[in-house]
Amino acid sequence: MSNIIIPRQLSIEEKYELMQDDAKYEVGSDSDAQNTAVLCASDIKSKPPVPKIPKMFLSSTCVFNCAYCGCRCSRREAHENYCNTPEELAKMAVYAAKTNGRGVFITSAIYKNADITQEMIAESVRIMREELYYTGFLHAKVMPGADPRLIANTGRYADRLSVNIEVARSSGYQKIAKQKNKDNILTPMGEVAKQIFGAKQEKTRFATSQTTQLMAGSTGEDDRTIMILTRALYKKYRLKRVYYTAFSYRHEAIGYEQENLRFIQTPYWRMARLYQADRLMQLYGFTPDDITPEEEPFLQQDIDPKAAWALRHLDMYPVEVNRADYDTLLRVPGFGLTYARRIIEARKYCRLTHNLLSRMKISLKKAQYFITCSGKYIGGSVLDSDLLRSCVATGLNQISITDALSADTTSGCGL
Ligand code: SF4
Repeated sequence: MSNIIIPRQLSIEEKYELMQDDAKYEVGSDSDAQNTAVLCASDIKSKPPVPKIPKMFLSSTCVFNCAYCGCRCSRREAHENYCNTPEELAKMAVYAAKTNGRGVFITSAIYKNADITQEMIAESVRIMREELYYTGFLHAKVMPGADPRLIANTGRYADRLSVNIEVARSSGYQKIAKQKNKDNILTPMGEVAKQIFGAKQEKTRFATSQTTQLMAGSTGEDDRTIMILTRALYKKYRLKRVYYTAFSYRHEAIGYEQENLRFIQTPYWRMARLYQADRLMQLYGFTPDDITPEEEPFLQQDIDPKAAWALRHLDMYPVEVNRADYDTLLRVPGFGLTYARRIIEARKYCRLTHNLLSRMKISLKKAQYFITCSGKYIGGSVLDSDLLRSCVATGLNQISITDALSADTTSGCGL
């Protein structure tokens, strides 16, 4: 009698459930990032948040062996695997996207090799667009080391492409993802940037944005290292967004026994601060040195990065709101892009007072310690004192990450 065990044929519902479980390892959209970031400070043991945009996997069987991933080839825990045909994946993805209404993220473990997987992803997205007439948002994954022609075939039908950088230091690949390296990650990332740029010039249909995901804490790096890397990625590869996730080692992984990974648990509050710091760089003109100077390379749990900067530069305050320019207003803790614009506009018509700012629905809760209005200061005697830190400290469950993440499009960012 034969010993071969033929895997059970999974139903669509079963595959979908398994996919959502695998999807917890990845951030695919701004709403997922918000979801991750709002988790409160001590919440390091809770399950990762359920993604808001459906992530549909081509395959859950990977030839790579990343220590943190549920799809890795050395996984010992009982886990049913699946591999869809492009037709199956396309149908399931269109159904999920239409049900969810926010779009869909097509991704995969590396099935056989990067090029075979990329080719199948490219075919899936082609079917979605050309045969199933799907017109909504489509984010597609690029495999590490994928051939540029296959990236082009995928990008032709996707709105967004992403390659995950994973670690903040290239030495980190050996520690948590031994088959990945700087080359097989940054080369496709550069290729995507080049193809997006080329398509814009030639006005051809292609994905318009690229994102990446970084796992904080896996290599013991400080936040300054992450900020410097993030800044370089935005600049060099013109990324739309860097997503941050907390490194979490769930199951003992073969091949990583020497790395002591089980002792690493990145707290979720760190993600919230990283997202705030990221927005300060992208939208407020802060530099990595502003946010994480050499002498203070870690973001702080009790205080947001902008307030921390203000406390290091108290000589700049208080700022007179009737005279300060736009960039100076943006450095006031509690004033975001919208508040700063609103103040500049209102100044054309009147002299601003605290009362008037409140009537303009500008919150002074934090800002009151850092401003004067027509020479008047209402922050009490805390400026220059140690008390100020506790006055502007933000409980992490009060962080307005939703505002921070969407500050470029909506009002009221209170960073
Ligand atoms: S390459 Fe991706 S799917 Fe494969 S083990 Fe690594 S993280 Fe998981």
